[in-house]
Amino acid sequence: ARRLVVTSAAVKAPHNGVSEVVVSSTPNGRSFAARSGTVQKASSSSPLAAPNNHRPSPKFTAVPPAEDTGRREDPLPSRPVSASSSAAGRHRWLISKASLSNDDPSRVVVVVLDGDDEAAAPARRYEFPAIWLRDNCQCEACFHAGSVSRVLNWEQFDVEHVQAVAVQPIDGGHALEVLWKGEENGENAAGHRSVYAVEWLLERSFRPEDSKAYLEEWYRPTPELWGAARFHEVIQDFSYADVLHDDDALRQWIEALIRYGVVMIKGAPLTEHECRRLANRVGFIRKTHYGEEFIVKAKEGTSNVAYLSTPLQMHTDLPYYEYKPGCNLLHCLVQSTDASGGGANLIADGFYVAERVRREHPDQFRLLSETLVNWTDIGEDEGGKFHSIYRAPVICIGRDGERLERINHSVPQRGSHFCVPIEQAERWYRAMHRFVRILHEEAVQFRTAPGDILTFSNVRAIHGRTGYRDTVQNTRHLVGAYLDWDEIYSKLRVLKTAAKLTTTTE
Ligand SMILES: [Zn+2]
Repeated sequence: ARRLVVTSAAVKAPHNGVSEVVVSSTPNGRSFAARSGTVQKASSSSPLAAPNNHRPSPKFTAVPPAEDTGRREDPLPSRPVSASSSAAGRHRWLISKASLSNDDPSRVVVVVLDGDDEAAAPARRYEFPAIWLRDNCQCEACFHAGSVSRVLNWEQFDVEHVQAVAVQPIDGGHALEVLWKGEENGENAAGHRSVYAVEWLLERSFRPEDSKAYLEEWYRPTPELWGAARFHEVIQDFSYADVLHDDDALRQWIEALIRYGVVMIKGAPLTEHECRRLANRVGFIRKTHYGEEFIVKAKEGTSNVAYLSTPLQMHTDLPYYEYKPGCNLLHCLVQSTDASGGGANLIADGFYVAERVRREHPDQFRLLSETLVNWTDIGEDEGGKFHSIYRAPVICIGRDGERLERINHSVPQRGSHFCVPIEQAERWYRAMHRFVRILHEEAVQFRTAPGDILTFSNVRAIHGRTGYRDTVQNTRHLVGAYLDWDEIYSKLRVLKTAAKLTTTTE
């Protein structure tokens, strides 16, 4: 188990910014807004101590997915014909016409009608690249259905030679047939024939809005960012038993985790194995050099009370991993009974913080998103000695040059080697100072109770802990584990597919 990692991190940097985070209690008693200033102690009657007291079970509070209310020219469904409509069997799409494009013979044009309502619905036109159709031929020689894999021999695939010579709707419009020009050698000298079901084609539409909808539903749903003032609207509670035993609850928890980056699970048994059970429900624990499950527990009655009461600065875990663990599961077994309210969790939406920096201080945003920082961790744990280094900016942007992908922030694990041109160093520090100030403005504070599992994205959320007084009678005890986003997204798709199949067969 990971011993006192958190504490030792705090020991390395006893003076940190967390003590400047103050949660203000507003008249309506529901605000979690935080601001900088002098330290205020949260009273036991503070709404912060139990932010979810009045929230019913998540099944009933889940925020419905945002509907696209944009005006549409096209009277047909804005959703891709994919999943939602075809699997639910609401529409029966039929190909009324197929041809090679007059403008560009390398494209195949398909016109479809709503087979259930041909009179009312106008025809809809789709274009597909012929080369893509040939590459995705669904015949047994080209595609292995059992493994959902292309088996076309690409070593003999002659891109220059591919040419559709005839296309037509077949099977009453339920499928498209494409005949290909004969190949110079091999078994396709006489020309290959491909057949595509209309649903299959429409689910793979090249229309930009359809691609976008597909990515939103099946790749990665867009997160919804939140500042401190909105935390009470986005935080949802789920029942541990529901998530463990009910697939709908599991799916809703994952969806909330993707959307908001932090979700509370309540009512877990007080054993050290619940994070593992929860992780196994999704996939498997992501192991790190600290092992699989780690224990955050201060030593009882240590003489270093001062160290143990030290706040833990806000941070993301393990920034020194290129493939950083994606999601934290933090199970509270024993909470500090410190009457001054110590041992509270702090959390902020790092993406929201980054967006504020981008909007308010674009030059500093650029510095934070372009300057490579050396993240390091050197030590020894059960898995042996380690010496990790990974270089990445504090704000990592995706390949599209805009979308936020990952936040790295950990004062103890930011290495002292700073490999930048010397004239850039101070400017970077000013930008970092800005980032941390905004981070503390947008941080919220609450205290988990025994049985709570706080789940949050380690690439998005930034978390910490207020100081607390640890004594023999007051021993805080948490167990943590990580999950990777690849497994979480994968599980979500499996659950969605199963739910759609159920709908179809009902
Ligand atoms: Zn084929």
